[in-house]
Amino acid sequence: MANRQYKIPKIDFNGKISVVEHEDEIEAALRELEGEEFIGFDMEWKPNQCPTDNHKIALIQLSSATVCVLFRMLKMGGMPQKLKDILCSESVTKIGHTVNESDAIRLWEEYGIVLNRIVDVKDLASQMGFYPLGLKPLTYQILGFHLDKSLAMSDWSSELTPEQILYAATDAWVTREVFLRLAPPKKPALQCRTCLRYYKNKKELDQHLRVSNHFVFRQKRKKYLQWSSSLGSSQQMNMMCGTNTTEMMYNNLQHSHMQPNMYSEETLMNSIMTGLGNPIIHGMISSECTL
Ligand SMILES: [Zn+2]
Repeated sequence: MANRQYKIPKIDFNGKISVVEHEDEIEAALRELEGEEFIGFDMEWKPNQCPTDNHKIALIQLSSATVCVLFRMLKMGGMPQKLKDILCSESVTKIGHTVNESDAIRLWEEYGIVLNRIVDVKDLASQMGFYPLGLKPLTYQILGFHLDKSLAMSDWSSELTPEQILYAATDAWVTREVFLRLAPPKKPALQCRTCLRYYKNKKELDQHLRVSNHFVFRQKRKKYLQWSSSLGSSQQMNMMCGTNTTEMMYNNLQHSHMQPNMYSEETLMNSIMTGLGNPIIHGMISSECTL
């Protein structure tokens, strides 16, 4: 297989972002998440530079399909009851990444809160055989998009830049998107599977699909499976058994700081074989390959 590199599209949250700094803003912000069964969850804090540093949780993000609320915890100087209610709620499922190892412990240590009804997509993806399990590799393996993690270690305790706000919202939202692809709800969302945008009704979604030439993946999945089965047997073996694929993906990640959104053909092939990858990428590779 040729050692080609592909630039894959970056994913950003494109819904509404509310930043909450005062307790009296919470009610209105949370109303927009009302009735949500699954909420993307994430937290940010200023990274500790030395062992004596103990930076507090600076931000808690909650996201639905189209709305993300960012709670600036340091500004509010405590855990607001309404936010605590959601985090501890038994009826709202919170979808996070590395929650069990990190976020849940921090919430307990800082606020004495026990998170309820949490799904950790890292654990879920691990059980389903995905590797590597970082949110960035899971985003390209499962959604077929590049997730920019360059602001992960930025200072979350000072005033937030627009880039930090978008980054924080995207992190919480994309975690929810990864989960929904791994464990799809019975009733599919009105979502374009190519660009991941949500639409209010079927008419608007259909119009978008027509105008953009995007599609809802399942309808055309068969075509791509046919295409991938027409590849040579060694390529197929590589993809089916994952021979070298994991190692290549790992190497790819090691070099990703130099070319952050370039991914090897092998990595993207692997994404196709999961049956979950993004149609943009399927089209990109198939147009490069001689069938
Ligand atoms: Zn689209």
